[in-house]
Amino acid sequence: QDPNEWKVIEAHELAAKFYHYLLSNTKQGERAKHYLRERGMTDRLIDQFMIGYAPEEWDVLSRFLDGRGYPLELMASGGLLSPKSDGSGYVDRFRGRIMFPLWDRDGRAVAFAGRIIDEGQPKYLNSPESMVFTKSRMLYNLHHAKPFVRKSKSAVLFEGFMDVIKAWNAGVKNGVATMGTALTEEHCVSLRRQAEEVILCYDGDDAGQAAVHKSIPLLQSAGLKVLIAILPKGKDPDEYIEEYGPEAFSRLLDDPVSTTKFRLIYSRKSHILLKEEGRKNYLMEAVGIVAELDSSTERELHLKELSREFDVSLEALKQDCHEYRMELQ
Ligand code: ATP
Ligand code: MN
Ligand code: MN
Ligand code: MN
Repeated sequence: QDPNEWKVIEAHELAAKFYHYLLSNTKQGERAKHYLRERGMTDRLIDQFMIGYAPEEWDVLSRFLDGRGYPLELMASGGLLSPKSDGSGYVDRFRGRIMFPLWDRDGRAVAFAGRIIDEGQPKYLNSPESMVFTKSRMLYNLHHAKPFVRKSKSAVLFEGFMDVIKAWNAGVKNGVATMGTALTEEHCVSLRRQAEEVILCYDGDDAGQAAVHKSIPLLQSAGLKVLIAILPKGKDPDEYIEEYGPEAFSRLLDDPVSTTKFRLIYSRKSHILLKEEGRKNYLMEAVGIVAELDSSTERELHLKELSREFDVSLEALKQDCHEYRMELQ
C-alpha cells in the first residue's frame, strides 16, 4: 500500500480514538453524550461503534495531528482538515459534531460522518472522497456484520447508519447501510460476495419507499434475492425500535414481504379503491405485476387473494394474467 494512504488511515484510527476519548471522558463532550443518551445510545454501543465528539474549536484535531508529526497537507487531502480560505494553513473539518468513524471492510477507519447535536444544517457532514474513501463503495458496518451475514447468507440494508447501530443493539447483527447516497452496483457486488439475500429495511416515508423501488432491480441484477421489511408510516428503523422495542423489530424482520407483494402494496396506494374506476385500474395493474412471476403457484396465490378481496372470479383474473404473460414474451 501507498505510504501516504497508510498514513491517512493511521490518522483516522488515531482521530477516532481521540474523538471517542473527548466524548467519553471530558466536560466538552457532555452535551453530545446527553444527546446520545436521549436517543437510546448506551455506553456499550458508544464504545462498540467508537462514537466520538469533535469540539467546536477550529484546531483541536489539527494541533493533535501536527504534534504527532502528521503532514497537515496530507491530512487535508485525506479529508480530516480543510485548507483555510486565505491559504495560511488548515482547520478541522469537523467541529461541534458527534463523530461516527466509517470503516473499510477490513475494519480500518477511513472516513467520518459527523452529526450535528439536535437540529441544524447540514444534519450530517461526511468526509469528502479521498484516496482511501469512496462513497459509492462504502457499506457502513460491513466489517462487523460480515461473519453474521455469511452465516445467515442474508444482509439487512438500512438507509441510515443510526439505524444500523440501533438494530445491532436490538440483536440484528447483519445490518449495513449506504452513506446517504443511492445504492450502487459496487455496493451490490460487495453484498453478493457475502450474502444470497438482502432484506431492505428503509425508512417508512415516501423517500424510503421510492428508494426501495430503485434498489430492487439493482440487487436482483447482482443475483441477490430481495425481501422488504415494511415499517409503519413515517417511522425509520431507529424510531421504530425506540417506540415498539427490539422484540417487535425482530418480528418485523422475521416476516418480510416479497418484491411482488411490495409492488402490489405500493400500486394499491396510488389508486382510490373507493371508486369503481380506481378498483378496476388497480386490479389490472396488480394482475400485470403478478404476471411477471415465473411460478404458477405463486401467481395463483396472489390472484386468489385479489379474487377474494375484489369479488372477481379467479378464472377471469387468470385469463387476464395469461394475456399479460403472452405480451411479456
Ligand atoms: P437521524 O436519526 O440522526 O436523524 P437518519 O439516519 O434517520 O438520522 P435520514 O435523514 O433518514 O437520517 O438520512 C439517512 C442517511 O442519509 C443518513 O444516515 C446519512 O448517511 C444521510 N444523510 C441524511 N442527511 C444528510 C445530509 N444533510 N448530508 C449528508 N448525508 C445525509
Ligand atoms: Mn429518511
Ligand atoms: Mn431515517
Ligand atoms: Mn432516524
